[in-house]
Amino acid sequence: MTRTLLVDADDTLWENITVFNAVNAAYVDWLLPGSSVRELQSELDALQVEFIAKHGYGRETFAKSLLGGVERFAGRMPSNADSAVIDELVRPLLWDELDLIDGVPETLEELSARNRLIMVTKGDHDEQSHKVARSGLRHHFDAIEILPTKSVSEYERIGELYSLDPESSWMIGNSPRSDIHPALAAGFGAIHIPHADTWSHEREDLTSHPRLMSLGTFSELVRHF
Ligand SMILES: [Mg+2]
Repeated sequence: MTRTLLVDADDTLWENITVFNAVNAAYVDWLLPGSSVRELQSELDALQVEFIAKHGYGRETFAKSLLGGVERFAGRMPSNADSAVIDELVRPLLWDELDLIDGVPETLEELSARNRLIMVTKGDHDEQSHKVARSGLRHHFDAIEILPTKSVSEYERIGELYSLDPESSWMIGNSPRSDIHPALAAGFGAIHIPHADTWSHEREDLTSHPRLMSLGTFSELVRHF
């Protein structure tokens, strides 16, 4: 049976969190000059998680949360001028340029010759589709799955949809919470490739499991698959 690799996208194939971190840093510089993003990080994360719960993932939600932060952190009602500044700050989140992680195109080229590849990403559908198109990586994949959230039942649904044999299918990604733990629970193997900066909301202590392997870089996948 053909081996199938399910591959996460944000912070596995291309940089994502570093772009959000840069926007957050510019926001704090603007809103609270003299403060550092580090002092505010946990409150910013909490604010962003609150807005995601209400409005879903995506650039617009992120912009709304930054606008909400004007009241929460600076103690004033946001004005139209604030809104214009924030629209400018979130411009990198249009994702017209993507920064691919080292070795990704060559590694996918090699892996796709020996394995069936399915991209499994979560987020706003239009935004993630745009990133896939801009990445230039679409042709390596047999299918693209964009999910609202990565849960055990979503992995099970993908397993059924593509008639995957769990014994010869692996999920590859940087997030224990979204990529590793639910995929293992659905019966797949899992390959954790940590990213130096994983968003606090995605952090979870990695479980130990006979079908879990950790690698240092994406390129190392070719030694195993
Ligand atoms: Mg990821």
